[in-house]
Amino acid sequence: MSASGKILLVTGGSRGIGAATCRLAAKAGYRIAVNYASNAKAAEAVVADVDAAGGEAFAVKADVGSETDVLAMFEAVDGRFGRLDALVNNAGVVDQSARVDELSAARLESMMRINVIAPMLCAREAVKRMSTRHGGKGGAIVNVSSIAARLGGPGQYVDYAASKGAIDSFTIGLAREVAGEGIRVNVVSPGIIDTEIHASGGQPDRVERMRKVVPMQRVGTAEEVAAAILWLLSDEASYTTGANLEIGGGR
Ligand code: NAP
Repeated sequence: MSASGKILLVTGGSRGIGAATCRLAAKAGYRIAVNYASNAKAAEAVVADVDAAGGEAFAVKADVGSETDVLAMFEAVDGRFGRLDALVNNAGVVDQSARVDELSAARLESMMRINVIAPMLCAREAVKRMSTRHGGKGGAIVNVSSIAARLGGPGQYVDYAASKGAIDSFTIGLAREVAGEGIRVNVVSPGIIDTEIHASGGQPDRVERMRKVVPMQRVGTAEEVAAAILWLLSDEASYTTGANLEIGGGR
């Protein structure tokens, strides 16, 4: 599965699923832009791991919720590598558990900006660089959704679930829009994966608590999601576009 020097940008590549994707992508031969928002140390650790494995990566700070930052991030990738072959729209956030009748407009705007508008803006910039319509050589995009999109997240984060539902629809539409322009667009929907996102939503014990509701009786690892992402990016998935691959242990 050699990607032999192809250029990959992973948003939120510094921790969790994004970091696992960067590390696995390096093994597959990608040269990687590791995006992060604030934790430079974590991003540099991923870059160091890629370097140690004989790969090439650089860290690029950008809040994907800011269009200015997104434009600067893509320009940084242009400057470093001169082209783009693959994008993983991975950066995403949850918030504290709350019912819909408790949600503030500020929370909703922030959630939708980071989880919905940001991946759309990144996809826009990627299409401008990859599409044969714009003189590009084609490419692949993988969006990171969640099985929460079909479960709904009641009592916890219906807003988060809805943001991921938007990504699912966006994936179908964009996949069909650029299918004739050399770009494949797919989405992965992880179930409960052991990362720091749960603690960031005020539920550090969520992984252990939810293990029992998963038919496989365990949570997933970031590496298990990364493997699916890498397959969807690869030429092995050459006839797969608009697909939603669930990685949820049967849930
Ligand atoms: P995580 O461990 O919390 O890592 C989040 C990553 O995103 C970090 O690298 C973080 O960078 C970055 N990030 C956050 N906000 C950002 C922003 N505004 N701009 C740029 N980067 C930003 O999360 P994860 O569990 O790996 O989740 C990754 C994706 O998988 C998300 O889209 C999430 O919704 C989805 N997902 C996760 C699970 C799960 O159970 N873990 C399940 C389903 C779906 P900094 O460290 O610099 O902030």
